[in-house]
Amino acid sequence: MKEVKSPKKPLIYYYGIVLLILFLFNLIVTPLLAQGQVVEVDYGTFMQMIEDKDIGMVQVEDSQILFTDKDNAVIYETGAMDDPTLTQRLFDAGAQFTRVVEEPMSPILSFLLTFVLPLVIFIGIGQYMNKKLMEQVGGKNSMAFGKSNAKVYVQSSQGIRFSDVAGEDEAKESLAEIVDYLHDPKKYTDVGASMPKGVLLVGPPGTGKTMLAKAVAGEANVPFFSISGSEFVEMFVGMGASKVRDLFKQAKEKAPCIVFIDEIDAIGQKRSSGGGMGGNDEREQTLNQLLTEMDGFEGNNGVIILAATNRPESLDPALTRPGRFDRRVPVELPDLAGREAILKVHAKKIRTADDVDFHTIARMASGASGAELANIINEAALRAVRDGRTIVTEADLEESIEVVIAGYQKKNAVLSDKEKLVVAYHEIGHALVAALQSHSAPVQKITIIPRTSGALGYTMQVDTGDKYLLTKEELENKIATLTGGRAAEEVVFGSITTGASNDIEQATKLARAMITRYGMTDEFDMVAMETVNNQYLGGDTSLACSADTQNRIDAKVVEVVKAQHEKARRILEQNRAKLDELAKFLYEKEIITGEEFMQILKAGGDKQ
Ligand code: ADP
Ligand code: ZN
Repeated sequence: MKEVKSPKKPLIYYYGIVLLILFLFNLIVTPLLAQGQVVEVDYGTFMQMIEDKDIGMVQVEDSQILFTDKDNAVIYETGAMDDPTLTQRLFDAGAQFTRVVEEPMSPILSFLLTFVLPLVIFIGIGQYMNKKLMEQVGGKNSMAFGKSNAKVYVQSSQGIRFSDVAGEDEAKESLAEIVDYLHDPKKYTDVGASMPKGVLLVGPPGTGKTMLAKAVAGEANVPFFSISGSEFVEMFVGMGASKVRDLFKQAKEKAPCIVFIDEIDAIGQKRSSGGGMGGNDEREQTLNQLLTEMDGFEGNNGVIILAATNRPESLDPALTRPGRFDRRVPVELPDLAGREAILKVHAKKIRTADDVDFHTIARMASGASGAELANIINEAALRAVRDGRTIVTEADLEESIEVVIAGYQKKNAVLSDKEKLVVAYHEIGHALVAALQSHSAPVQKITIIPRTSGALGYTMQVDTGDKYLLTKEELENKIATLTGGRAAEEVVFGSITTGASNDIEQATKLARAMITRYGMTDEFDMVAMETVNNQYLGGDTSLACSADTQNRIDAKVVEVVKAQHEKARRILEQNRAKLDELAKFLYEKEIITGEEFMQILKAGGDKQ
């Protein structure tokens, strides 16, 4: 009970209502009932009535006397007096009278009745309402106020192994040591080595962090507790801390075991320095409890905490101090080989044609996470079913890459012919600028089938291998390619459309990064003017320079983009015939493959 502190309607609220009702009942109803039956009179009236022999039955009690008139029509009540002759006079008046000796109620019983009983009733009602409330807000588990709710997976039922996690070899290697420790702790304690208490899995969403944590438990054959950081900070003040306490209590009972805290950034964010607002207190309390628990247990008790986050830079430094989450395992987006392996793992669950080349598919899905790759396989299978086939083909997979990356084909969106032509020129503009510059990834496929994501056309470029370093020229060419769509509209129609908004955003981002982060301009040399806050989620940045410098950066961004835009326009003007030919092809077929594109480009014409 002591943890129950609802911010909205504390229990006292319900007790209050019950008390009020009882109070009103006493105040109004009881006297009403009584009044109907008994008339209160003074002792003189009583004596007068005896005198007049207008008296029926009399009941003498310690403190009061109840009596009726001769016809027994009305009951009267009066206070008792010290009146020694009363008996004689009543006898003379011919009344029927008795004396009732009240058994004094035992003090214990009266205490029970007046204090304990109501209290028991109130508490009972309170508990009932508490339970009701919990059922409404807390799901099925109504008794779990302050319980951790951690899901427990025991190896036998959920045996995920390292072999189920494709790629991520470095991560697996780091974690293998922990598995080994859980298998044979003695080997480590003999030398005096203690395992890290906490391991932080760091990487973008969908890269298999949860899978890896489960695999550690699966390989070590130990229980696996899993809870998400956001579950700690749910609804009631003080709940988070008590959930943490409960989680660790459970874990210690089941040791050796793995505790996995997903999205630890939900509780582990940097604590505010100056007294924050109420909302943060709860999170800080939870975090403090977690730190206390981690400090509390000795290194070798067999509880190993794995936590996952995709925002490592936002974590409170206290969490990553030695003795807490002092080991960090990066779980990065898969590279080409990794993507191929992941695709193959998931393809085992579906029936694929024998000739599917997963290497090509993996190349096309550059930048996809493990979760997206799993999704690509599933989308392909769904597509095969929709078409009434029982085997998934390579075309299904290619299509589903576009679906997962660019959104579904929007079959019913009708573009007017004029719009379709503009979109065709726009996309060919991108592709042509890309193809006519050196260092650009070859075009794989262009479509002008609208997507639910809002994109009207889509140019897919595929790098031949993974690229880790980009040269300044390559970045400039990328910007030129991005401006190529708009440039084509200008060259051909002399007017411009809204279709380039996404291109503009990307081009600006690239140009800005060249200046502020990659040190690629003479003006600012190798000075960092922006730092990346969030490496794994979109990479938003924060400025670290004066307002004056910001103005100069903005001007420089415009300069860089403008130069590339002009270059793109020049390329298209010089290749106007090819532009028209390719756009016409795309306009009619709505789709053009890389090979068709190159054929038309090379046929009869030479690069100018
Ligand atoms: P995270 O916890 O990093 O957000 P998950 O572990 O929940 O990612 O992964 C989501 C899904 O993506 C998994 O259930 C799995 O199907 C798939 N997946 C991700 N990475 C891999 C991988 N390396 N190998 C196989 N499947 C993966
Ligand atoms: Zn575009």
